[in-house]
Amino acid sequence: MSAKNPAATQALRRYLQQRLELGERVAMRVTGTAATPDVVAPAPTAAPPSARQRAAAAPAPPGESLAQVAAEVRACTRCRLHQTRTQAVPGVGPDNAAVLFIGEGPGADEDAQGEPFVGRAGQLLTKIIESVQLRRPEVFITNVVKCRPPNNRDPEPDEIAACLPFLERQVQLLSPRVICTLGRHAASTLLGKQEAMGRLRTGTHTYGTIPLFPTYHPAALLRNPQWKRPVWEDIQKVRRAYDAAREST
Ligand code: URA
Repeated sequence: MSAKNPAATQALRRYLQQRLELGERVAMRVTGTAATPDVVAPAPTAAPPSARQRAAAAPAPPGESLAQVAAEVRACTRCRLHQTRTQAVPGVGPDNAAVLFIGEGPGADEDAQGEPFVGRAGQLLTKIIESVQLRRPEVFITNVVKCRPPNNRDPEPDEIAACLPFLERQVQLLSPRVICTLGRHAASTLLGKQEAMGRLRTGTHTYGTIPLFPTYHPAALLRNPQWKRPVWEDIQKVRRAYDAAREST
């Protein structure tokens, strides 16, 4: 990535990411300078391949609580992101939440407030949740990485790997009936595969035995209003899976 014009390089990276989410089959990486970027493939994988297999079926250790995980997250120094954070952002929601939303990582607002999805993307996420008659305080919301990547860059694979045990423990403790991943990083981390969102969101997925629905990240939706309809379809699938789970108990 160019040090000469980070803003231009960031914009190019966003553009390439959107193309990937729109259906490009090949992941891309930007190198060279902002003026003359090279696009090379494939990009480094975002998640260790065994993450899903390792964690999905494991029971939570007896006596452990979400509050305990949150306390460990707040004190964590496992990766370089702790050096630049204001505070870690473990997640928010009740211990018995049936629906779990997983984003990518805290942004500036979340880093300042210590709560996930409180900025513009978060306001949109709240509307998405409410559009299917769920209330934000009844769902659990967290991220793949719990500390803000500087300048809102993508989390690095080693940062995701360092933080993943926290997410795995959160899923085990919550044991939600439905998971909705927001954006490419959350989907690829939980599913252990790199595919375009346009393809992922139309597939059938589980994390262990929990139905998992990947959808576009609300921040990407703000930049791409044409994704409103797919996101609307996806959140309805989440609602239907939640209703089905409730009916079966
Ligand atoms: N984007 C994310 O992925 N997570 C947040 O908490 C905020 C913005």
